[in-house]
Amino acid sequence: MKVGILTIGNELTSGKTQDTNSSFIARRLQAQGWQTSIIMSVPDDEGAIKTGLNHIMSLADAVIVTGGLGPTADDITTSAVARAFGLGVYTDQAALKHIRDRFEKFQLKWTANNEKQAHVPEGAETIKNPVGMAWGYALKRDGKIIAVVPGVPSEVKRMVPDGVIPVLKKEFKDEAGHVESRTIKLSGITEANVDQLLADVDFAGLGVNIGFYPNFPEIQIVLTAIAATEKAAKESITAAEGRVSEILKQYIFAYDQDTLEGIVAGLLTDKKLTIAVAESCTGGLVTDRLTDVPGSSAFLERGVIAYSNDCKADLLGVPEDVLKKFGAVSEKTAVSMAEGVRRLGKCNLGISTTGIAGPAGGTTEKPVGTVFIALANGTTTFCRHHNFRWDRRRNKTMMSQAALIMLKRYLTGELEDER
Ligand code: AMP
Ligand code: MG
Repeated sequence: MKVGILTIGNELTSGKTQDTNSSFIARRLQAQGWQTSIIMSVPDDEGAIKTGLNHIMSLADAVIVTGGLGPTADDITTSAVARAFGLGVYTDQAALKHIRDRFEKFQLKWTANNEKQAHVPEGAETIKNPVGMAWGYALKRDGKIIAVVPGVPSEVKRMVPDGVIPVLKKEFKDEAGHVESRTIKLSGITEANVDQLLADVDFAGLGVNIGFYPNFPEIQIVLTAIAATEKAAKESITAAEGRVSEILKQYIFAYDQDTLEGIVAGLLTDKKLTIAVAESCTGGLVTDRLTDVPGSSAFLERGVIAYSNDCKADLLGVPEDVLKKFGAVSEKTAVSMAEGVRRLGKCNLGISTTGIAGPAGGTTEKPVGTVFIALANGTTTFCRHHNFRWDRRRNKTMMSQAALIMLKRYLTGELEDER
């Protein structure tokens, strides 16, 4: 099945907002084994919306539309879609009740223009919105499906997987076959290297389509198999995944919806270990990512941002002569920071980062992007050293990624193996 995506909004075509809905939707379609044949953005303009719809429908079996369902006068998607197909518009009472209930729940002041958010073209099937105001809808025209949802990315992320894809699946079930997909997440390797290392694997021969998606600081590989039965599709994925892990095992850190911080949190919680974090160059990013996981208080005792030498010395007990002799960015300082914060927090583990994020401050010996990461467990203190080559923000992100990867490797016993 071929699907087209139409994103609508003046903010998109003026360059104020980057269209992130399309890439999200296209990935979800790919995971279903469906092809995205066109992605198009148009302003909130009836003529442009009609032209866009007609063009996409000449290329695809279905169109997913986002944007322009808001209360304000500029949002005109529903009336434009309805007129494009010669349909009237009505107020859906269930959609209206949902909006009124939300107004009540959040104690918002009702204004008449909000009723517009419950407008639906005649004959359309509504799609519920669990996280926002306007519901979406799907209609069928000339054997093709047109599904419309609001533009707010958080709403798209719920409504497309939960509402739109099931409608498409139902309509096109006969031709689809069984689809299985697997996302493999890698870190510490470039996309080009992944591609090169996998060049000799015959994925097509295994009945699997492979896609590469760099998603900084990770690289994602998505394997998709379509087969007559669920069993056959699963077998193809298992075979392909086996080949990928044989070749790239050391870079793989997660699968599907799992995140690095989520895995680390799960391991710490399961092992009943506590941790304290001392961050210099990452400015709190490691702690930020750990606290993204619900229930992080089970393992995270504290995070200290020890940015200055004074703080490293006063708070974490890094000896002045270590700072003087080896510098703040050094193995000795990283080790001392990790041991210091572990002691301070009375934890099982202490982890630290110290490095040069850039763009200035590098030397020949310690260029911009240098980071030392140490992990202390009371018996041993491990230290790893990396060199990243990005801008300041990306270096910080990579450094926090490297710290979490190191922690994960420690928790799974792989770090000890390296010694
Ligand atoms: P709308 O549903 O058109 O009122 O969109 C609401 C808000 O969602 C817009 O103001 C944008 O900030 C955002 N938005 C809409 N479409 C997109 C898109 N394709 N990608 C990213 N953000 C979007
Ligand atoms: Mg809009």
